[in-house]
Amino acid sequence: MSETKLKPCPFCGEEPFCGTDAQGWGVICTSMQQCDVSPTTTYHESEEDAVAAWNNRPNEKGLTFDASETEIILAALSLWGVENNRDLDDLCEKIKSGGK
Ligand SMILES: [Zn+2]
Repeated sequence: MSETKLKPCPFCGEEPFCGTDAQGWGVICTSMQQCDVSPTTTYHESEEDAVAAWNNRPNEKGLTFDASETEIILAALSLWGVENNRDLDDLCEKIKSGGK
């Protein structure tokens, strides 16, 4: 096994398996019991390439957000012009009436 650590499966969070057969190296999520997707890489010439392919997550940054729930809510409220309880009541009424 190489020193590079495999990222957990993005669908079930379990540790994947890296192995080789006649066609080459590949990484697969073998957690069949819990994983509804069981993703696998295509075949690669080396273990390093297979691990790199598995660990490559171009959208990962877009999926994480470094803010607390409170910060997100406050930012959203400020975006909607909510600065006090009366504004909040108005916003709630607007939402209830379908934005009219
Ligand atoms: Zn999985």
